[in-house]
Amino acid sequence: MINIQVLQVGPLSTNCYVLSDPETNQCLIIDPGGDAECIQDYLDTHGINPQVILATHSHADHTGAVKILVERYGSQFMIGLGDVGSVNRQMDWLVSMIDGFQDPPQPDKKLEHRDKFDVGGISVEVLSTPGHTPGSSCFLVGDNVFTGDTLFRESIGRFDFPGGSEAQEIESIKNILFALDDETVVFPGHGPSTSIGHEKLANSFVR
Ligand SMILES: [Zn+2]
Repeated sequence: MINIQVLQVGPLSTNCYVLSDPETNQCLIIDPGGDAECIQDYLDTHGINPQVILATHSHADHTGAVKILVERYGSQFMIGLGDVGSVNRQMDWLVSMIDGFQDPPQPDKKLEHRDKFDVGGISVEVLSTPGHTPGSSCFLVGDNVFTGDTLFRESIGRFDFPGGSEAQEIESIKNILFALDDETVVFPGHGPSTSIGHEKLANSFVR
């Protein structure tokens, strides 16, 4: 049984998720968007070590603390192939909002659709879901999916940023996320969790 902890970081209350395996004390972090000290406190208090840092996409509010954590823990940084080029081309207005933002390092691994890997006892499958950004990715871990800014509870991510596409975003949600079991728990990049079944019924942005 893995442990899922959400830490809200930065001025946009980004959901940073820490997934840990109590048997091995290994963990992975999804979207450390800021507030590196708060994330470090959690890791150090629980004596867990992040082998891997995943970003659902390159935006500064999801990657702002990557560099500090990589330097401190020697974690591997992974992001969708389509967002590799924008990791170091952030939107200035967004960067200016994130206290202590540091440009993330170049990724150790560029993720593609259906890539699979394990961290301790945590098995991750990558789902490429372009639309919010070209390289937006969701991460399937057991019956849980981490959806970044692709799918929110009863809403969807913006598609008017550079590289965004409304048509692609809707297609990604319909064809990839809505193909998951209805019981799959959805952990979005902002706001409360939901389920695939609930979103199929109640998400008016996807019809
Ligand atoms: Zn975003």
